[in-house]
Formats: sequence, C-alpha cells, structure tokens
Amino acid sequence: MSNHWVQIKKAELHRHLDGSLRKSTMYELGKKFNVDIPADFHFSPNMTLEKALIFFDTSLKLLQEKSELTRVSAEICEDAKKDNITHLEIRFGPHLHLQKGLKIEQVVDSVLEGIDGRAGLILCGLYGDDPKLLKSYVEISKTRPGVVGIDLAGGPHHSQSFKLEDYQEAYTMALEIGLGRTVHASEGRNPNEIITAVNTLHATRLGHATTLLDSKEALDLVINKQITIESCPTSNLQCGVVTSLKEHPITKWLELGVKACINTDNTFFSNVTLSEEYQTVSELPGMTQELMNKSIENSFNAAFKLR
Ligand SMILES: [Zn+2]
Repeated sequence: MSNHWVQIKKAELHRHLDGSLRKSTMYELGKKFNVDIPADFHFSPNMTLEKALIFFDTSLKLLQEKSELTRVSAEICEDAKKDNITHLEIRFGPHLHLQKGLKIEQVVDSVLEGIDGRAGLILCGLYGDDPKLLKSYVEISKTRPGVVGIDLAGGPHHSQSFKLEDYQEAYTMALEIGLGRTVHASEGRNPNEIITAVNTLHATRLGHATTLLDSKEALDLVINKQITIESCPTSNLQCGVVTSLKEHPITKWLELGVKACINTDNTFFSNVTLSEEYQTVSELPGMTQELMNKSIENSFNAAFKLR
C-alpha cells in the first residue's frame, strides 16, 4: 500500500469488534461454524443503516466462544499496529455474544485477554436495550480497568420501549466513576439526539452526528463543550446517511472548530483501513493539511483513559 498516512501515528476511537475481523479469519470461522459468508461480504454505497446492521447477525454467529473472541480482539490490535495506530479503542456489545452460554463477564474478559493492554475497550448497549444492561456494563467496568467507556449503538426505532433519555442513570453512573461516555447520535437522524446525548447522558464524544449542522443549538453545544465527533465518512456513505463523500460535513466541521476526528467504524465490512480513510478524507473538497492535522490532534486528545 503506497499510502503516506501509514507513516503517521494515528488514534482510532471508533472501531467495532464484530465488523472488523480479518478477511481470512472471517472465512475460516465461517467454515468452522458452518456459517455461509457471501463472496463479497462488504457494505456497498448507499445501503440503509438497517441493511448494514443485518451484516452483524452473520459475524456475531462466529464470535460466541471464548477462543474466537480472544483471537479476533488480538488480531484487531495487531492490524491496528501495522497501520501505525498508536492509540486504539475497540467497542462491542457483550450481550450479543451469549448464544452458546457464556456469561457477560466471560465475554468481556475474553476480549480483554485478546487486547492484552493494547487497546481500550468500550462496552455498547443498543438503542432500545433495557437501561439495566448499560448499568451492568458500568458495574462490570469497575473491576476491569481495560474497559474505558460505554456507548449506545444501533439506532432508535418506534417499536422500542426505551428512549435515549432513559439511559441517563447508567451514563451518570459512568460519569461518577470516571468512565468514558460516547453515543451513536444523529447518524442521519434528527440532531436533537446530539443535544440529549450531551446534556442528558453526559457524552463527551459522539459517533457520526452527521446532521450536526442542521441545528444551531446542537452545533453551539458541541463547540462550547468541546465534544469530539467520531466521524466515519466511508461508513456514513455506505449506510446512506450522506449521499456522497463530497457532501460529508467533516471539512466544514473542522473549519468551524468542531473537534472532529477520522475513524473506520468497521474495517472488514467497510473494507477500509484507517490510513485509507485518512487518504479519502484528505481528498475531500476544501480539506487542507492543517485541518487533517487538527483531526489527528482531536483524536488523541479525546482518547478515553485507562482508569
Ligand atoms: Zn459505530
């Protein structure tokens, strides 16, 4: 790969475990567990977020045992190191790995074993999950310094009985013990999610937030509170939340002083490395070296700390 971004030290804050398996591992485990993996098992441009989320049903089937959780976590750390990622955070929803009888703590510990101190771990609930689950993640993290944060992933649906506000208690518990807080917010949806995530859930980072510029209130809040946006432009294009990369707001955000940074979301499903994502963003209209440097600085500054 002749991509000069590989030479530059980078931080990756937003990478999902179950979307970032090595290609060879994905197919090897597919064979082992008799799960059919389509030949070109990647996101394609402008699919919907709902369709993108279905891909995870398949990868999750491969990650229901301790050894696979440990192996894949270790491989993600190795791959990141090769890409010159000197600060890595991996996220996943432990409750999605209980199909073969593991307990949540065993799932978390298997991943921490694979990470072996090379990355911070973020535990994700999904929109609509019982808030008790998020609280249990905060509890689990108390005795596991390798867990650096919590997150809400997926997206809201009218069938869900819990709303973003309902996770306030769990996020307040996280704040109280110094655990990092991020939320997948406004991924092509109403910018009010940004306001709720920051004001009610004490989020200091937001995943995606692609509609930030649609609300002056949200924009002012994000700038004044120096909230970091974990931006994943290729994923945003594939999930259909921006219609083209040229229209992605990351350049404008950086110009306005928003603390945005560049991330992959899912290296396998999006078929992208962080250096490739940097290259893509560097070619966007109006992007400058200065703004690229800013985004690198933003990512390192927003790293969740080991406690
Ligand atoms: Zn994500």
